[in-house]
Amino acid sequence: MVLSFGWAQSKLNSTSKLNSTSKLNSTSVNTVTGPIPIDSMSISLIHEHMLVDFIGADSVSPARYNQDEVIAKVLPYLLEVKKYGVKTIFDCTPSYLAKDPNLLNKLSEQSGIQIITNTGFYGAVGGKYLPDFAFSETAEELSNRWISEFENGIGDTGIKPGFIKISVNEENPLREVDAKLVMAAGLTHQKTGLQIASHTGTWATAKQEVATLQEMRIDASAFVWVHAHAEQDFQNYLEAAKLGVWISLDGIGWSLDEYVDRLLFAKENDFLVNILISHDSGWYDPAKVDGGDFQPFTNIFEKLMPTLNAKGFDESDWQMLLEENPKRAFGISNGQIQ
Ligand SMILES: [Zn+2]
Repeated sequence: MVLSFGWAQSKLNSTSKLNSTSKLNSTSVNTVTGPIPIDSMSISLIHEHMLVDFIGADSVSPARYNQDEVIAKVLPYLLEVKKYGVKTIFDCTPSYLAKDPNLLNKLSEQSGIQIITNTGFYGAVGGKYLPDFAFSETAEELSNRWISEFENGIGDTGIKPGFIKISVNEENPLREVDAKLVMAAGLTHQKTGLQIASHTGTWATAKQEVATLQEMRIDASAFVWVHAHAEQDFQNYLEAAKLGVWISLDGIGWSLDEYVDRLLFAKENDFLVNILISHDSGWYDPAKVDGGDFQPFTNIFEKLMPTLNAKGFDESDWQMLLEENPKRAFGISNGQIQ
């Protein structure tokens, strides 16, 4: 076993440092194998995918893939990233894009990695991944579906979501259906305490979502601005950080330079404490032969770390980005678990 940095090595060798963040001990998160204390999340990747099917809400179906074939494809990549000390992965595949809690459960059992799934709907790409009822139901009706997944489990699986994942189209103002998804996410958050991660892109769109939540008296820190690396004006990161928004720089599986620039800016301007990082890597695609090419979950450890360490990042920065920030963003208090 070869590790590139000592901090993860110590994590692998020691599982008894659970009281180092006692403030967080009262919080938990739902994984696909059940709730865990937040301190056992350890090193976490907050935005990855095991399986995604882009066929659309009208045709998506578990019949389009063989679970055993998906597991055979994905499992080696989970085992690969374990050597870097990763203990928890958030699967960001939403409903109607082949979210499959039972598959995630099997992958978790076989890999030993804690996997977290989500509730919510994906509005981007013009609503291609929304069921028809998402257009006709109210925000409250949609939120009742998501709250039910939190309280009773997803479908008949008994598996509960650990966060809310929505997405919106990049428009100003937001499309009616997208604004409704944000409100439904807010209502679900109020009832469950689940964090809201929204596939967005630029701050011009994300700030509309934050404003909607603030009108509902929800703190901006309940919101994860997903794909925030799409933002080109770095001043907007400062604006988001001041509000307490979580800034998710989550495409590191696909490129490096834009992340180096943004993370250096965040360190220089003292808001690494608002940053989440991940690869947006994976995934088995049922439309492709043998699930297509799989992007591994390792760029952060193999490429980003050495590059930024040469520019002044140290172990405390990585511990904040990969361990402390995910816990603070996604932990929910025990009182909110039903
Ligand atoms: Zn994604």
